[in-house]
Order: sequence, then structure tokens, then C-alpha cells
Amino acid sequence: MPEPIIEIRDLCVDYVTDSGPVRAIDRLNLVVESGEVLGIAGESGSGKTTLAKALLRILPPPAVITGGEVIFKGRDILAMDDEELRRMRWREISMVFQSAMDALNPVISVGEQITDTLLAHDECSAEEARERAGKLLDLVGIPRDRLGSYAHQLSGGMRQRVGIAIALAMRPSVVILDEPTTALDVIVEREILERIRELQREFGFAVIFITHDLARMLQVSDRVAVFYAARLVEVGPAGELRGAPRHPYTEGLLQAFPSVKPGGREPKSIPGQPASLVNPPSGCRFHPRCERAIEICPKEEPGPTEIGPGHVAACHLAK
Ligand code: SF4
Repeated sequence: MPEPIIEIRDLCVDYVTDSGPVRAIDRLNLVVESGEVLGIAGESGSGKTTLAKALLRILPPPAVITGGEVIFKGRDILAMDDEELRRMRWREISMVFQSAMDALNPVISVGEQITDTLLAHDECSAEEARERAGKLLDLVGIPRDRLGSYAHQLSGGMRQRVGIAIALAMRPSVVILDEPTTALDVIVEREILERIRELQREFGFAVIFITHDLARMLQVSDRVAVFYAARLVEVGPAGELRGAPRHPYTEGLLQAFPSVKPGGREPKSIPGQPASLVNPPSGCRFHPRCERAIEICPKEEPGPTEIGPGHVAACHLAK
């Protein structure tokens, strides 16, 4: 049985605005298991990136964590002091950001950026750090003679691979990938995701994989958690969500992608607009867009219902 490596309990994150707090993550309970790939899916503004940054405590203002616990290896990340956080970031939990071009320093070679990470977090000599930086480039499929290259001299795919090399530098237990392939073409995207999966199997770290592309996520994830309007609405094994989603929003996300099979169905968009977080709908937040809504839906928020082992959906129709 896989062991939980991160337990998120009742996590709440608000954005403080002039007209009052806007809740971006609402009472989230979620477990990340050791060595798994957990996909986090949902439309823009559903709280995916906010969650990733909350786990590392790198949320910029006006975001504020207003409640809950994030237990990592028995310690609450939300209660860690600056020194504990410094030791935890990169060494224990690392992150690959959406745009490697923005994440990499344009005036320092990629080799120096990797060695700087190693020297900052590990006791090793400059020579050892450079040797390890070369090995890390090998791991992500970049020739080590590119250690002296600058970000602008690399393709988008190579830059994102460098971001992955930096994230893996300290052999963390958890790697967060925040839309790691959004700006890449589909062939490079597939190569990078396959490499991440190989590395994950080889080194055994857990991956939290964030994307709005549910179809892609289902291909690479072991389990998937689906967010809507700051709430977790469904979580379960990727195969079950692909074949038998139990929340109408998950179903809608799947139907929004075209079938790749010849003569397959046409994509169908979810009607309406994403829910406002400033003034979210009453009851089930998805009810104004849900074609299956029943009388109770606008009146009462559905709680999580266990459908099968590890498969939970927050819907009044889930049984
Ligand atoms: Fe639709 Fe009601 Fe289920 Fe919400 S609770 S997803 S409105 S059926």
C-alpha cells in the first residue's frame, strides 16, 4: 500500500482584495501518495497554481493561507519557520514552473544555475557540483556540452528540460510540475512527459502534475483530482475518471476534448461561464452549468461521497 507523503487538511487560501477576501482554495482535503503521479485538473482560476504555491509557501501577496494543515513527513509545512522552509524547498519538494524562459536567469549559463542550486542546498565542492550538473543534463536528455549555454540559446523544450534538471538536483521526494509543457508543440510535449515518467519511475519521487488539459493528464497520471471554483469535486484513479467520471464537471471536461479516433465524437463545450469566486453560486457551485442539476443542487452543497476505493465525488447524484 502506498504511504501518504503529503496530507492536505482543510486548506483554505484567500486573495485579499479591496472589496474583501476572495477564497481561491476552499477547505481542501487531499492526499499525495509516495511515488505516484497525481494530476490536478480544472479550468483557469480553479485554484491549481495557488495550491502548488501554497504547498511550497511561495504564494505572493495578496494571497494568504487562512486555514488548514499541510503535513509532509510528519511536519506541518504551514507551521515551519524560515529556516525549515529553506531546507524543505528543493531538497524535499521542488517545482517546475509554467514558463522556463521566465524561470531561468537570462544572464547566467544553465550550468551555473544548476550548480548554484546544488551549492546553495548541499555541501559539495564547485567541481562536484559541476560534475553533478552535467549528469543532471544527461538525465533530462540534453548533451552536457550545453552547460555553458544561456536560456535564449536553447529551444523551448530544452529550457523546460533544464527546469526539470534543476527541480531534480536535490533528489526531492515530491516534484510539482505547473503546466510544464503548455508552450510546447505536441511532439516535444510528449517527449518531455515520457521522460518525466521514466525519471519518476527510476527515482521514485511523487509528482503533482498541474494542467488544464485533462486528456493529457489522464495519460500520465496514476490518480487525478479535479477542481471547480476553488473546490475539489472529484478525485480517483486516472483509469476510472477516464472511463467512468462520476462528477458532471469531470465529464464535461472530458467531452470538451476532440476524440482522436477516426469518426469519433465532436467536442462539446461546457455551457455557461466559470463560477465567480467573488460571489460563488449557492449549493453546488457547478449547478448553473450542470445539465443534470436537480432541485436540491442550488440549495445544498454536496459533500464528498466515496464511490469506490480511492474514488470520491462531491455531487448529489454520486452513489
Ligand atoms: Fe450537477 Fe447537482 Fe451534481 Fe452539482 S450536485 S454536479 S449541480 S448534479
